[in-house]
Amino acid sequence: MAGNITFTMIKPDAVADNHIGGITKMIEEGGFRVVAMKKTKLTEERAGKFYEVHKERPFYGDLVKYMSSGPIVAMILEKDNAVEDFRKLIGATNPAQAEEGTIRKKYAKSIEANAVHGSDSDENAQIEGDFYFSADERF
Ligand code: GDP
Ligand code: MG
Repeated sequence: MAGNITFTMIKPDAVADNHIGGITKMIEEGGFRVVAMKKTKLTEERAGKFYEVHKERPFYGDLVKYMSSGPIVAMILEKDNAVEDFRKLIGATNPAQAEEGTIRKKYAKSIEANAVHGSDSDENAQIEGDFYFSADERF
């Protein structure tokens, strides 16, 4: 059975460009409830750890630098079928392929600076949420 929790980050470019409100509005209007939320900045070491699954991919070094280049906004989100529905709401990794009406279509600048992260499985949603939030930060 699909879980009801996913995890997202608003990435450094989108935060720097003042799109926290616009993106959060699309998330809430998409039927997601914000369970936990914080603005924070990853060190390169923490970003490297978060994206460890990608460490063999050619873009890993650039991605770690980018994700630690400025503050991000991390959120745990709740909705039925959260992981799959959120992947639909954010759109394709490459904004050139993202569908109309998706967050990445509206806010992504490039395949790297693509505005938001979204968990790819229930298991990773738990791991990623736990990476940022303690139990007393979730409501
Ligand atoms: P996602 O699940 O849609 O975010 O995509 P992936 O898990 O495949 O990749 C993680 C993140 O790495 C993406 O969101 C992008 O920020 C970045 N990324 C993915 N593919 C590329 C690429 O080909 N080049 C660069 N520079 N960054 C990439
Ligand atoms: Mg991914």
